[in-house]
Amino acid sequence: MNAKPTVESELVEIQHSEPILTIEDLCFSTSNYLESKQVDDIRRAYYFAHDAHEGQIRRSGEPYITHPLAVAHVLAMMHMDYECIMAGLLHDVIEDTHVSRESLAAEFSEQVALLVDGVSKLAQATFETRQHAQAESLRKMLLAMSQDIRVIIVKLADRLHNMRTLGHLIPEKRRRIAHETLEIYSPIAQRLGMNLMRCELEDLGFHVLYPTRYRVLFEAVRKARGNRKEIVSQITASILNRMEEEGLTADIQGREKNLYSIYKKMVTKQLSFAEVMDVYAFRMVVDDIDSCYRMLGVMHNLYKPVQGKFKDYIAIPKANGYQSLHTVLFGPYGLPIEVQIRSRDMDQMAEAGVAAHWLYKTGESEGSSQAERRARQWLQGILEMQKGSGDSIEFLENLRIDLFPEEIYVFTPKGEIMSLPRGATPVDFAYAVHSDVGNSCVAARIGRYLSPLSTQLETGQSVEIISSPNTHPNPAWLNFVITAKARTNIRQYLKHLKNEEAILLGRRLLNKHLRAFSTGLDDISQQRIDELVAEFELNNFEQILDDIGLGNRSVLLVAQKLIQSDTSQEQNQQPLMIAGTDGMVVSFARCCHPIPGDPIQGYVSTGRGIIVHQVNCKNVHNLRDKNENWLDVAWALDVSTEFLVDILLHVKNQRGALATIAVAVSETDSNIDNVVVEERDVGYADLHLTIEVTGRQHLARVIRRLRRIDMVERIARVNQ
Ligand code: MN
Repeated sequence: MNAKPTVESELVEIQHSEPILTIEDLCFSTSNYLESKQVDDIRRAYYFAHDAHEGQIRRSGEPYITHPLAVAHVLAMMHMDYECIMAGLLHDVIEDTHVSRESLAAEFSEQVALLVDGVSKLAQATFETRQHAQAESLRKMLLAMSQDIRVIIVKLADRLHNMRTLGHLIPEKRRRIAHETLEIYSPIAQRLGMNLMRCELEDLGFHVLYPTRYRVLFEAVRKARGNRKEIVSQITASILNRMEEEGLTADIQGREKNLYSIYKKMVTKQLSFAEVMDVYAFRMVVDDIDSCYRMLGVMHNLYKPVQGKFKDYIAIPKANGYQSLHTVLFGPYGLPIEVQIRSRDMDQMAEAGVAAHWLYKTGESEGSSQAERRARQWLQGILEMQKGSGDSIEFLENLRIDLFPEEIYVFTPKGEIMSLPRGATPVDFAYAVHSDVGNSCVAARIGRYLSPLSTQLETGQSVEIISSPNTHPNPAWLNFVITAKARTNIRQYLKHLKNEEAILLGRRLLNKHLRAFSTGLDDISQQRIDELVAEFELNNFEQILDDIGLGNRSVLLVAQKLIQSDTSQEQNQQPLMIAGTDGMVVSFARCCHPIPGDPIQGYVSTGRGIIVHQVNCKNVHNLRDKNENWLDVAWALDVSTEFLVDILLHVKNQRGALATIAVAVSETDSNIDNVVVEERDVGYADLHLTIEVTGRQHLARVIRRLRRIDMVERIARVNQ
């Protein structure tokens, strides 16, 4: 994996099998950079592993020890230190043999034991599902990794060799491992800046999951290279020529994406192969930072730059520590040329990431210590996240979100740079600053302007969060936040809140039903309540109320049990009053948007509380059969909050129509929440507006006002 991807290098097709190396090969290659005493330790670890795995056979028929040996070899190619290589040799002994962590520590060292233990999976038998086992093992590995980053390097080497030798496994297992590699391990490699590792893992996984697509792309790339040769050498010659005039030197490499990246780009951006390949990419490696900027000047002078494509990742490195200057130029015949310019240090970092520290012995260089610091920051974030997520599956989901979106860079009011995934909002920003800031944010100033909390941020903006101590996270934020940290924090808050609210609602519901029997909770004896708690095998009455509030337990049944009354008794039920401020356990159906004044019905949905529909909502008719889930509800008299409602306007398509309508709406103290414009016949358009009103009277007022506008031909409320 040391070969640099240059245009000239041969494409080699993946085989998923590998030549077998011996321990003497390993000792030879490590003796090039390790002390002889350390090489002796490596040999000792090999024989220990050899004996432990005695009799075990790989699927390919080879002795098991060939696998850890190959893993150690991958690590040696990366010039990892001797402890790491020993761990590579021993990496499967805890999981697959009777050797314990303690005996490894005694035999070798605490460090080696930690590395091996870190990559050992937890026994699957102790978990309900493979998913749980996988998530828990991953969580354990990330924890170990935060103590010693080499854990993940051993794990990636292990995974790389497994991927290289997948050929002997049954197809289903092969696909599962490939899938996990693309979903978890190659993104982790990317997060740590280990680009060569990422590319190889990706192409191996791609080859397993989509063999035909791989083959087609492989051939297409091979052919495209042939066709491009002439233009590439023409451009290279021009560049070299100009460099000579300016007295600059650089290594110039033709640069190509790996097959999986090409494939991903075709799929996500819906581009044809020709469109993806129709870019000429060059990388120029120079001696120092200063030369980077000089080289940029030379390139911009040689070919015109494309506006808005220049990126300075030297001044503002990517989150994984990657640094380079990126620019796009108009080349000969108008062909786009992508150029990356970086120093040698940056180039090493770009290929090996955190592993550059060992590979290039650049321990003291700024690049590699920065990469390690960033890796640590990332891990720190993960650790915080795993404290917040209760369940290991939730943790895995959060981790997936956290791994690798594209990034944007914004500034705090103090001018500090924050990196956030693309699509992040001020709420994500606030949580990235601190969870307290997130929990108390009410508004944001982007640049100089007040902006909604749901605005997507863009690189270069400065963001200021306006917070207030008396506010709380809003459940609606979950619709737009994208970072795991924000999501976890909001969910955590809501879980806690939801419980309190569910208990309150449960109490109200139960009281209402008890009133039907002319009694109330206050009249029921504590003894009777305790008996019921015992009967349901719960710890306290609150759990019953919580279940009722969330719709997990029938309120009628509980009421009847409490009064031990006959079910046939005529019920004189009062409807539950809906005030619009009932919090999360009462919600309003999006299909029919009920507003105060509408006849309504409540549907008790398991785990989601009560959903209020209009009585004439289509869904109500569909759900009608499930009788016991329906509940009589009515609007409370003092509803004062605002509700969303959909209206449809048929308008003459004139300049300024939308603005006129927006003004009219705001004049009636309403707000437009959403607008969809649909061109109809020539000169007409349908305007779907979602507006906020306090009830039917308010809505009528808005509609009357809108009718007065000349351009509005027809207007109606949409009841689905
Ligand atoms: Mn292994």
